[in-house]
Amino acid sequence: MIKLHDKFFKPYIKEEEILAAIDKMAKEIAEEYKDETPLFVGVLNGAFRFVADFLKAYQHPCEVSFVRLSSYQGLTSTGIVETLLDVPEEIEGKSVIILEDVVDTGRTLKQLVHLFSNTNVKEFKIGTLFYKSDVYNGEYAIDYVGLEIPDHFIVGYGLDYNELGRNLREVYQLNQTDMINLVLFGKPGAGKGTQAGFLKEKYNLRHISTGDVFRFNIKNGTELGNLAKSYMDKGDLVPDEVTIEMLKAEVEKSPDAAGFIFDGFPRTAAQAEALDNFLESKDMKINATIALEAEDDILVARLLERGKSSGRSDDQDESKIRNRFDEYNQKTAPLKAFYKAQGKFHSVNGIGEIEDITERLSKVIDSL
Ligand code: AMP
Repeated sequence: MIKLHDKFFKPYIKEEEILAAIDKMAKEIAEEYKDETPLFVGVLNGAFRFVADFLKAYQHPCEVSFVRLSSYQGLTSTGIVETLLDVPEEIEGKSVIILEDVVDTGRTLKQLVHLFSNTNVKEFKIGTLFYKSDVYNGEYAIDYVGLEIPDHFIVGYGLDYNELGRNLREVYQLNQTDMINLVLFGKPGAGKGTQAGFLKEKYNLRHISTGDVFRFNIKNGTELGNLAKSYMDKGDLVPDEVTIEMLKAEVEKSPDAAGFIFDGFPRTAAQAEALDNFLESKDMKINATIALEAEDDILVARLLERGKSSGRSDDQDESKIRNRFDEYNQKTAPLKAFYKAQGKFHSVNGIGEIEDITERLSKVIDSL
C-alpha cells in the first residue's frame, strides 16, 4: 500500500501486464498502418509513459506529437476541459491516431474530437491504454483499447492523484477498505434525515437523501423534478430506473468521499440489487443497514407536525402519509430480509431524545 497526499492506494495492474497490452495494441495498429506514416498524438500529461512504451513497440515509420488538455481536479472529473497545448501543425492529409492514457466518462474525448474537427486529416482514430467501459458515454467509437477496467480511481504509469504518482512503475487503485457506507432504513418520519445530519459530521461521510435530491430538482424545475413530482405528490415511489440513475450520479459526484450515508435509498428490491452491483463495480460495499424503528401512530403525528413547517404537501395529508407507509410495507420492508441475509441488518430504537438515538446509531457504527 502507498500513500499519495491523504489517500492510500494498493497495487492493481503490474508493469508486465501493461507492457503486454501495449505490445498487442502496437501490433494491431501496425497491421493497418505499417505501409504509411501515421501521426500518433499523445494526450498529456497522463499518456507520456504510454506513448514512450508504445513507440518502442511500434517499429515502423511514424510521427509523434502531443496535445494537452486538463480536466481532472483532485479525484473529480470537473467537466471543465481546457486546451493547454494545441493540435500539431502540418497535420493535413495524415492519419492521426490519438493515444490516450484513460477514457472514462468521455468528456475529455469530446474536447479532443472537437480540437481536431476543423483539421483536414485523412483519418482520425482513437486509442486508449485504459478503458472504463462501464462509465463511458459511448459518444465516439474507441478504435484501439489496451486494457478494459472497471471504474476504479487509478494512479501510476503516468496517471496521477493531484500530480503525485505519475512515476510509479505499475498501476495502483484507490483503497476503499476504510470506507464506511451506511444505509439508514426506516419508515417516513423515523428520523433518518435528522440522524444522517449528525452522523455525517461525526464520521465525515457524505449524506445522500434521494428525497432531498428529488425536492431540489422539483424546486429548480428540472426534467427529473417534473417527472418525480407527480409520484411524490401522491406519496408513491418514483420509478426505479429514474431513482437508480440519479443515485449513481450522486455517488459519482464524490469519488473522494470517506463514505456515504444512503437515506431513503434503497426502497425496493431492484434498488437494493442495483446498489450492490454498482458499489461492487467501484470496489465499495455497504457495511451496515441500520433501521430506525418507531410505531406508525407516532410517525404520523411527527410527519403532520413536520408538515406545518416543512411545506411538504406529502406531510400535510394523513391519507398521503398512510399511502407512503403502504408503499413502505409493500416494497421497502422486504429489504430487511435482503440485508439480514448478508448479515448487515441492525435495528435501533428510533423513539427518544435525538442525541440518545444518535448514540445508539454510533454504537452500531463503532462496532463495525
Ligand atoms: P423522503 O424524503 O425520503 O420521504 O422521500 C419523499 C418521496 O420521494 C417519496 O415518497 C418518493 O416519492 C420519493 N423517493 C425518495 N426516495 C425514493 C426512492 N429510493 N425510490 C423511489 N422514490 C423515492
